[in-house]
Amino acid sequence: MGRIAYVNGAYVRHADAAVHIEDRGYQLADAIYEVWSMSDGRLCDPEGHFARLERSLGELSIVMPMSRAALTTVLRETVRRNHIREGLVYLQVSRGVAPRDHAFPTQPVPPAVVVTVKRVDPDAAEARAAAGVGVITTLENRWGRCDIKTVGLLPNVLAKQAARAAGAGEAWFIDAEGKVTEGASSNAWIVTADGVLVTRDTSANILRGVTRATLLDVARSENIRIEERAFSLEEALAAREAFFTGAGALLMPVVAIDGRQIGTGHPGPVATRLRSLYIATARAAAI
Ligand code: PLP
Repeated sequence: MGRIAYVNGAYVRHADAAVHIEDRGYQLADAIYEVWSMSDGRLCDPEGHFARLERSLGELSIVMPMSRAALTTVLRETVRRNHIREGLVYLQVSRGVAPRDHAFPTQPVPPAVVVTVKRVDPDAAEARAAAGVGVITTLENRWGRCDIKTVGLLPNVLAKQAARAAGAGEAWFIDAEGKVTEGASSNAWIVTADGVLVTRDTSANILRGVTRATLLDVARSENIRIEERAFSLEEALAAREAFFTGAGALLMPVVAIDGRQIGTGHPGPVATRLRSLYIATARAAAI
């Protein structure tokens, strides 16, 4: 049984799935996306991802292609047809297909919708988290609306490739003030020497991570001291622990930044505990 994708109303073989060459997502990155992590075949953090999807679409004046309920059915049906229990669900919505022109189509066209599902090996993910990864840093060079989850990801792509080339698991962007904004596909966190959990505030030019929001709730319920504020690269290097969060990595401990050891050089107790609490919380609320 091969992989199945959903494309504009039809479930098709992944190998045959295609969009039109004048899909505005393909030509102009005029599209947004969402990624849900999936646990036992169910969608994690559903409310947060649907809310951000609607917000991203609204910011770009792209209409919601179908109701939340209908979209949930499509996402679940794509998962079911792929026979995948643990993995990631990817949804992309573009403004639609129209003769190439930077401005929006003058005659409204229906948004184009694609859903794919990817398997993740939970044991391999746990092993990776148990070892932790390194991150590299790179200068922030993205546009001013990183709060919208668009497919215009070229700076993120280049940053992630630089991380891979350096043997690291993620790249953290550093802004003009020397402060960490976020990762190429994740939000950045540290635990300071005096035990305060710090992550960048969402008034900054970052994506409002859904995993970030759930993890803040988890940390609050653990009575961990939290500060949502900018932190510098120097502060991160001096931190007791560091990690990043996202639907893909869930919570990944960081053991080195730019080749310099963080804390003991191993995943710390706060990151390790928060990872398992996050996974338990997300699983319990998955739909
Ligand atoms: N920041 C960026 C740039 C991302 O691409 C992502 C996820 O893809 C995140 C943060 C984390 O967001 P979430 O936790 O909603 O997956």
